[in-house]
Amino acid sequence: MPRRTKIVATLGPVTTQPDVLAEMLRAGLDVVRLNLSHGDRVAHWQQLQLLREAAQREARCVGIMLDLQGPKIRIERFREKAVALKKGNRFILDAELATDAGDERRVGVSYKGLPGDVAPGDILLLDDGLLRLQVERVIGSEIHTEVLVGGRLANSKGINRLGGGLSVAALTAKDREDIRFAAEAGADYLAVSFPRNADDIHEARRLLREAGGHGGIVAKIERREALDHLDAIIDASDAVMIARGDLAVEIGDAELAGVQKDLLQKAQTKDCVVITATQMMQSMVHSPQPTRAEVLDVANAILDGTDAVMLSEETAAGEHPVAVVEAMARICQGTERYQRFHRGREQGRGYRYVDEAIAKASIDTANRLQVKAIAAFTESGSTALWMSRIGTEVPIYAFTRHDATQRRLSLYRGVYPRRFDITEADHSQVNREVVGQLESEGAVATGDLVIITKGDLAGVEGGTNTMKIVRVGAVP
Ligand code: PEP
Repeated sequence: MPRRTKIVATLGPVTTQPDVLAEMLRAGLDVVRLNLSHGDRVAHWQQLQLLREAAQREARCVGIMLDLQGPKIRIERFREKAVALKKGNRFILDAELATDAGDERRVGVSYKGLPGDVAPGDILLLDDGLLRLQVERVIGSEIHTEVLVGGRLANSKGINRLGGGLSVAALTAKDREDIRFAAEAGADYLAVSFPRNADDIHEARRLLREAGGHGGIVAKIERREALDHLDAIIDASDAVMIARGDLAVEIGDAELAGVQKDLLQKAQTKDCVVITATQMMQSMVHSPQPTRAEVLDVANAILDGTDAVMLSEETAAGEHPVAVVEAMARICQGTERYQRFHRGREQGRGYRYVDEAIAKASIDTANRLQVKAIAAFTESGSTALWMSRIGTEVPIYAFTRHDATQRRLSLYRGVYPRRFDITEADHSQVNREVVGQLESEGAVATGDLVIITKGDLAGVEGGTNTMKIVRVGAVP
């Protein structure tokens, strides 16, 4: 049984070697993420070039996600690169201080509006929550704080406010330039960092389309405010990412599991793709194998219905970039064996489109009849998306003539993109050809049932209106 859950891996310094990339692809990498918070565009361009060459050599279809830096608020720099803050010390965040003039008494901040957004009593979390400061008072550009939890504070570390609520806009000037870069680079997905509401997603999509980009929009859920606008954000997005790193800093770790489970469930009812991200295999940055807790974390996300699991530092800067993808793939497959889907699960609402009805009816049929595979012809990928929203062990082979659709589909749970140009095929032979292709790759054998979905008019978006059930060896 092919693995259903998709693996997203972040590229970084260790993946600049072509051999490493090729091995990661062989280990099961489906989608790569380039984090635009780090590195410059020349380096990202070169990395994409290497990836495309490796994917071509390995004959693999890989989706590309560009992840915007977003308005992450950071401290500026220290004269000595870092300082040690002790519990009980006073420390000032000064929006007017020169960028490299920090010392053990004060440091600059990247967001000049920060003093206007905080009030006495607020808790500020630095370096992903490792250090805690409590605001005592705000005087002009200076935020005077008391150190509640001290430690080493190095240049450019992130700042969050416990409980969220900082008003900084989601798309920065750098993000806007990076959206143009994403369009030029042919990104299949654009991940928007720190969106507050659906407007931020619509704005990112508008900018990407204006720049000529075709990619889907991924909303990273990592701000407290986003949780208050979840329905609208999901409706506006092609996928959501549970960005547990920043989210946990904003909401505190106690609520993280509940929020993750709610989000997965909500996205499922809205036919939205979900990526579960951050620290899934963190110990493998150094260790050659994951901890038991990490195995269970990945497994639980799968059992709760995630489409994809994501690796960050583990592949970008870790010591075992190939072994971690192998381990992830192994855990996904092992867990999927225990994934029980309810046959004919009732959907909460009716169908809106003919192709949606065909797609979902096909899965319902596949789950009740002993069907071995589904062959879905698709232009935009929607038919395969709708199919993959309903839990099934039956693999969904999505046949499309568009390379971009193939790469976009590589994120969807249980969907395996295949190239096929239906507009060039002899209509009377299409069923035979796709079944023959599945037979030649060992996905089906004589006697197996296969569901084929397609439209009366070949190559028309939204045109799927037929479900056919054929038996291998007796295809008319
Ligand atoms: C996160 O915060 O969990 C996340 C995925 O974002 P980034 O890796 O860009 O910090």
